[in-house]
Amino acid sequence: MKIFYYHIIFISILFSSCINSKKKVQEVNLYTQRHYSVDKKQFENFTNLTGIKVNVVKSNADELIERIKNEAKNCPADIFISVDAGKLYKAKKQNLLKKLNYSDFNFKLKDVLLDKDSCWIPLTYRARVIVFSKDRVSRDELSTYEDLSSSKWKNRLLIRSSSNSYNQAFLSSVIAHKGIENSLLWARGVVNNFARSPKGNDRDQVKAIYAGEGDLALINTYYLGLLLNSDKEEEVNAGKSVDIFFPNQNNDSGVHVNISGAGILKNSPNYDNALKLLNYLISGDAQKLYCNSSYEFPVNNDIQFNNLMQNWGTFLIDSIDLNLLGVYRDEAIKIFDKSGWK
Ligand code: FE
Repeated sequence: MKIFYYHIIFISILFSSCINSKKKVQEVNLYTQRHYSVDKKQFENFTNLTGIKVNVVKSNADELIERIKNEAKNCPADIFISVDAGKLYKAKKQNLLKKLNYSDFNFKLKDVLLDKDSCWIPLTYRARVIVFSKDRVSRDELSTYEDLSSSKWKNRLLIRSSSNSYNQAFLSSVIAHKGIENSLLWARGVVNNFARSPKGNDRDQVKAIYAGEGDLALINTYYLGLLLNSDKEEEVNAGKSVDIFFPNQNNDSGVHVNISGAGILKNSPNYDNALKLLNYLISGDAQKLYCNSSYEFPVNNDIQFNNLMQNWGTFLIDSIDLNLLGVYRDEAIKIFDKSGWK
């Protein structure tokens, strides 16, 4: 009788531990705008380390923000990741992001990339710079972003369309520095200098320089890293045909930068796991992987640039409040329309 009794207890313990372990599937859910293969590797490494499964939904930032709003309390997402501080600002403005405690993060991050309201964590940063044909442009002809509207670049300038968020964030930074009137004049000058109607992505602008369609372009540096390390010979050659110039360096505002960054959502169902994942993504190992795989700059102060980035040289970055990249977004789009920047 006693043995039978213990047997029942044993079975019921076993049964309840099965139910508990079923409840305890550890996961974290991301809504992300990022489309880079390095991310998959980062999440795999995190899962191997912690056992926490990472579920990913990819889409553009505006669609993800709409989805988070519509799903409201039923939203399964813990983290919203964007490649634009302007979109993080937008999510924050719509009251979707939780206020973070920066002291919950174990690594020293570049101050200038943080949010004054503590609503995001930067994961990488990107610099939007001038690239120029090594054959047809000399470095000393280049100086500032403002100078790209000068008539000396007539029919020589390549840049992607104004619907792209990198360009919208960039023009928002111009507005923050120069005001609306001057920014419209600048955009008109730039449109006058277009070598062709805007098309393609940042990589395509470098390929167009290589093909002789234009002489200089505005791109994010990591795309040059990707071209130079491509397994397609044509892409490597295109990358080699250009050089990088960091504008606005001499007692000036510095290079426009933007972040890939993450916010934790107000209704995050797996908050602790979300914190763990973000802490992992800013750790040394993950930051080195971003650096060496997608050629984005590390936000963790302890991590050095890789060799390619070191060859590009150090540069002064624009230290405006990154929220302004969202604040001036509507004005930037109006200026693009008025200037005829397609
Ligand atoms: Fe990109």
